[in-house]
Amino acid sequence: MSIDIINLAAPGIAGLPTYKPGKSAEEVGRELGLQHVIKLASNENSLGPSARVLTALADGSFDLCRYPDGSGAALKRALADYHGITPAQITLGNGSNDVLELAARCIVTNAHEVIYSENAFIVYHLATHSIGATPVVIPTREHKHDLTAMVDAVTARTRLIFLDNPGNPTGSWIDRAQLRAFLEAVPENVIVVVDEAYYEYGASLRADYPNSIEYLPDFPNLVTTRTFSKAYGLAGLRVGYAVSHPELADLMNRVRQPFNVNTLALLAAEVALQDQEHLRRGVALNAQGMADLTAAFARLGLNWFESIANFVSFDLGRPAHAVYQALLHEGVVVRPIVEYGLPDHLRVTIGQEHENTMFVKALEKVLEAGNAA
Ligand SMILES: *Cc1c(COP(=O)(O)O)cnc(C)c1O
Repeated sequence: MSIDIINLAAPGIAGLPTYKPGKSAEEVGRELGLQHVIKLASNENSLGPSARVLTALADGSFDLCRYPDGSGAALKRALADYHGITPAQITLGNGSNDVLELAARCIVTNAHEVIYSENAFIVYHLATHSIGATPVVIPTREHKHDLTAMVDAVTARTRLIFLDNPGNPTGSWIDRAQLRAFLEAVPENVIVVVDEAYYEYGASLRADYPNSIEYLPDFPNLVTTRTFSKAYGLAGLRVGYAVSHPELADLMNRVRQPFNVNTLALLAAEVALQDQEHLRRGVALNAQGMADLTAAFARLGLNWFESIANFVSFDLGRPAHAVYQALLHEGVVVRPIVEYGLPDHLRVTIGQEHENTMFVKALEKVLEAGNAA
């Protein structure tokens, strides 16, 4: 080949790393010849979606030869009722990844800066670089967002701030007072995207954890993103949404692909929203699992980051890679977070009770073997 394709890349693209998802259980099982493998690596809800969703999908009362409802009217209506907002404030996305990118694309150009925290979700980095905008990455303070430094970093070129609350991979959070003070300090022409992918877990674990949608009347520059991938158990269908000022939603809706959310995802999300009992069950299971896992870490003498999500990152006090590998051989897939600057930590997703037990047993075995060696 005589052309240099990499040289054709738009500014910001050639230097981007390819996103590496966690390994699937099937992949690990095949590679290591294991029968029983559990995946606690991608913060999925292993309880799965509501049974009502599965019934609705099996019913087949949809027409796959037709395009989906491009406006997502039924789901938006349901979400508007659920949150006490108007449908015009909602932008639907192919996962919340999609709306995070839409928020950036409709207001940020390569002349602008985008602020986010070190250790923050990789998608902020991808969205910023794919536009050719300048990322302004703020070091964390004790592995939490340094809100003061983020405000101080705002310049005349800043258009957008991404803030994950709780943060992934630490699970740490900003409380109500901190969020309000932050929003008050940020100039109103800078859009603040608060990524609440783990909202349902956070709200169940901490009374001081804010629902940023409630701040919208006071801060029209605010965008809240939510997803059906985590607590609602629909990661495989890809559906998320943003809630914002209607004019900002209008802009986001102009840049999105006209049919960005597919027919099955629209239906599943609408039905999932109706089954709040299932949601409560998953969230309660998570709270119990979090208590069980952190008790196990304490017993094993390991530190962890206090988390209000459905995952917890724990500290092995030495490079974690060998433990990660040994856990794979025990049939447990967790997530190394070395690319987040945390080489001594592993992140584990809270699973169902039997999965948490299997993880703890495997971890005990691996650490004992390590100590004996
Ligand atoms: C999992 C996660 C999401 C969800 O992404 P989807 O595209 O909705 O599946 C968003 N933000 C963070 C920080 C996450 O960890």
